[in-house]
Amino acid sequence: MPEGDTVWNTARVLHRALAGSRITDSDFRVPQLATTDLTGWTVRESASRGKHLLLRLTATDGADWTLHSHLRMDGAWRAYAPGERWSGRPAHLIRVVLRSPGAVAVGYHLHELALVPTAEEDHLVGHLGPDLLGPDWDPAEAVRRLGADPEQSIGEALLDQRALAGVGNLYKCEVLFLRGVSPWTPVGAVPDLTGLVSLAQRLLAANRGRWTQSSTGSLHRGQTSYVYGRRAQPCRRCGTAIRKQELGERVTYWCPVCQPEHPDAPSPG
Ligand SMILES: [Zn+2]
Repeated sequence: MPEGDTVWNTARVLHRALAGSRITDSDFRVPQLATTDLTGWTVRESASRGKHLLLRLTATDGADWTLHSHLRMDGAWRAYAPGERWSGRPAHLIRVVLRSPGAVAVGYHLHELALVPTAEEDHLVGHLGPDLLGPDWDPAEAVRRLGADPEQSIGEALLDQRALAGVGNLYKCEVLFLRGVSPWTPVGAVPDLTGLVSLAQRLLAANRGRWTQSSTGSLHRGQTSYVYGRRAQPCRRCGTAIRKQELGERVTYWCPVCQPEHPDAPSPG
């Protein structure tokens, strides 16, 4: 699932493939950019901000632009060598193809694809909270933003990218398990928010640079998570069946014993 670490990895793949190169051909397959031609533009760098990807370009007239994309649940960028067979995903999902002398970058099922002046990037990502994998990571500011609505459940608050940028559903479930906090606990009743966001940051950082996301330390298939994706399977700590239920707009997984309900929290039913 594309969370902050996956997006960070993707940005690095694109950076290695394209940074410093001149684009020899571009092919946008989305209506809003159908007539855009980046031929002759130079790729300065590729960066991530939370779950947003920013490919920074210099136009032929010297102006700086940013190609923004978001992977959401199902998007991906792949880099291929020229002439290499494009693998993995069906062609109808392709949203953009960028060619350079040394690489071909293909964006599949990208969301929010937009080309904006680099000076205006903040219009797209300025609302985000501190980026867990960014150079400006600031746990105190993340805690302050998380606490903005103390009545909200911590399970929903952690997914709000305006509080901290990069946590998705997998890390949300795993961090709450590791901290022994029920996802239904009101933010204001979580004992140590600083410890919680710091653990989230460490988990994402530990998985940076590889595509398998693990919170357990194991990279073996079926052993990479404590609760996420493990409905009805025994808790790795206490043996209780892991539960799965909707919380807000997403499902959440938790162990009812290791993550006891807070008295102020509405019952998960
Ligand atoms: Zn348990």
